[in-house]
Amino acid sequence: DALELIRHDAAHVMAQAVQELFPGTQVTIGPVIEDGFFYDFAREEPFSLDDLPKIEAKMKEIVDRDIPILREVWPRDEGVRYFNSIGEHYKAEIIEGIPQSEQISVYKHGNQWMDLCRGPHLRSTGALGKAFKLTKLAGAYWRGDHRNPMLQRIYGTAWRNEAELDAHLKRIEEAEKRDHRKLGQSMDLFHIQEEGKGMIFWHPKGWTLYRTMLAYMRRRIEGAGYVEVKTPQILDKSFWERSGHWEKFHDSMFICETEEGETLAVKPMNCPGHVQIFNHGLRSYRELPIRMAEFEGLHRCESSGSTHGLLRVRQMAQDDAHIFCTDDQIVSESKAFVDLLNSVYADLGVELHSVKLALRPEKRFGTDAQWTIAEDKLEEAANLAGVQVERLPNEGAFYGPKLEFHLRDAIGRTWQCGTLQLDYVLPERLDANYIGEDGAKHRPVMLHRAICGSMERFIGVLIEHYAGAFPLWLAPVQAVVATITSDADDYGQQVVNKLKAAGLRAELDVRNEKINYKVREHSLAKVPVIVVVGRREAENGQVALRRLGGEAQQVVSLEEAIATLTREATPPDLVRETATA
Ligand code: ZN
Repeated sequence: DALELIRHDAAHVMAQAVQELFPGTQVTIGPVIEDGFFYDFAREEPFSLDDLPKIEAKMKEIVDRDIPILREVWPRDEGVRYFNSIGEHYKAEIIEGIPQSEQISVYKHGNQWMDLCRGPHLRSTGALGKAFKLTKLAGAYWRGDHRNPMLQRIYGTAWRNEAELDAHLKRIEEAEKRDHRKLGQSMDLFHIQEEGKGMIFWHPKGWTLYRTMLAYMRRRIEGAGYVEVKTPQILDKSFWERSGHWEKFHDSMFICETEEGETLAVKPMNCPGHVQIFNHGLRSYRELPIRMAEFEGLHRCESSGSTHGLLRVRQMAQDDAHIFCTDDQIVSESKAFVDLLNSVYADLGVELHSVKLALRPEKRFGTDAQWTIAEDKLEEAANLAGVQVERLPNEGAFYGPKLEFHLRDAIGRTWQCGTLQLDYVLPERLDANYIGEDGAKHRPVMLHRAICGSMERFIGVLIEHYAGAFPLWLAPVQAVVATITSDADDYGQQVVNKLKAAGLRAELDVRNEKINYKVREHSLAKVPVIVVVGRREAENGQVALRRLGGEAQQVVSLEEAIATLTREATPPDLVRETATA
C-alpha cells in the first residue's frame, strides 16, 4: 500500500530530522497509524509546538537530499552492540527482545541515519515527497507502562500529494468543529467525569435526544415483527461460564462479589439472556422466527485510556436483537434486516457506505461445508436487499460469519455501526431447540443484529454528522420562544404553551437581554427554530420564525406556525404511516 510506505518513511525522516536538530535525543518506536504516523522520542527537554515547523523544514531538507534508503541484515547481537555504542539504549532494548538466533534488518538513509525496521521502504528519501505535516505532541510511556519513563510523541500525517494532504487537514478542522464532546457541552447534552470513566451523565436535553432515538427504534422494530424483552443486569459467574463469555470475554466484564460469597458478572451483552427466554417452555417451528429485542444497559470494561466521549464507553445500550430461526429462514430474515437497516439510515439522514462480509477465521467451530453455506446465505441476502458485499477473509467470529454495515457521515468519514452475525454455536452451547414439523427436536439458528450498535456511539456519530443541527424531529429543543421586550412576556407564555400543547419541545426565553443576544445564544445551542415575539406580534396574534443558520424571518399567524412546525417535527416513519393510512 503506497500510503503505508509513505507514512512509514515519513516517520523515519522525522526521526532523522529530530536527531539532526536535537542531538542526544534517543529514538524508540515509530509506527504507521490511521492517516499518519508517530514517533516516540526520549529527550530530557520537552518539545514545544514551535519545534514542529522546524522539524518539518528539516524533513523537507532531508527529502531534497534524496538519500538512498538501503536495507541491511545484521546478526541480532551486532544490533544490540551497535545501538548501545551510539547511545540508543531503547533500540538496543527492543533488539534484545528478539531471539538471539534471529537476524535483524536495519534501514539506512545513506550513511546519515539508520533505524531498526522490518520495512519495506521507498527507494530514497526523495520519493517521500513533501505532502506531510506534523500535527501534535503527546506524552507516552515507554512500552505503554506507567512505571516506565515518559517519552515524547510527535504525530504527523502524510499523503501522496498536496491535494490529499489539504483535503485531510480540512477534514480534521471540520471534524474538530463537529466534535461531539464540544457540542455535547455547548448544547448541554451530557458530561463525563473522572469517577465514571466511559460512563455518560445524560442531561435533560441529551436524554431527550436519546429517548427520541429509542422511541423511533422501538416503533421501527415493532413494525418489523420484533418483541421487546428485559433480562437481568447481573448474573452468576456459572451462567457466563456456560455461555462461553467467561472464557472469551472475561477481561472485559465487570465482576462483583457478594457477602454470601457469590461471584457475579455484569452483562456485557444480551445474547445468552435471550436464549434463556427462548428456552423457557417448548418451542414449535410454527413460532419461528422469534425476533427478540432489548435496549438494556450493557457494561464492558474497556481500558480507561481507550474511552473516548460517546464513541467508546464502558456503559451503553445497543439496539440489540436476536432472531431465532430455522436454516430455511436465514436468507429471508437477513434480507428483511438489511431492508430495515437501509430504511432506518435513510430516516436518520445517513448514507450506507459499504457492507463487508467477515469470513471464516482460522480457529472456528463447524465444518467447511457449513461455513460455505452460511457465508453464501449472508451474501445472497445482502444482494437480494440490493447491496453488494466486500469479502473480508479471516475476519469472522469463531461461531459464524458476519455482515458489517459502514455508514458515511456528512464529512466523508465512515463508521461501522450495524452488524448481522450468524451463530450456530450459542444455541448449541445453551441447548436451545424447537420441535420441527417432523416432531423431532432441532437447533434454531441465532442471528445477532444491530442497526445502530451502541446507542451512545451512534448518537455521538449523529451529533458530528449533523454538527449538532438536528432535523426538527430529533432536536432535543425544537423551538425557543424569545421575547423582544418585556411587554410581550405574557404573549410569549401563551405561544410556548400552545407549542407544547401541540406536542413540540419548546422553551421560553423572557430574559431581559437584547433579542440578537438571545438569537445568538440559542443558535450556538443549535436550536432549530427561534420563535421571536414582540408587541406587534402580540397585537396581531403572529410570530416571527427564525431558522438556525438562516438570516430571514418569516412572520406568520400563530396557528400557521404551529401547523408548520408540528408537520416538520413528525418523525419520518410516522409521516409514512399517515400517508398510507
Ligand atoms: Zn448477540
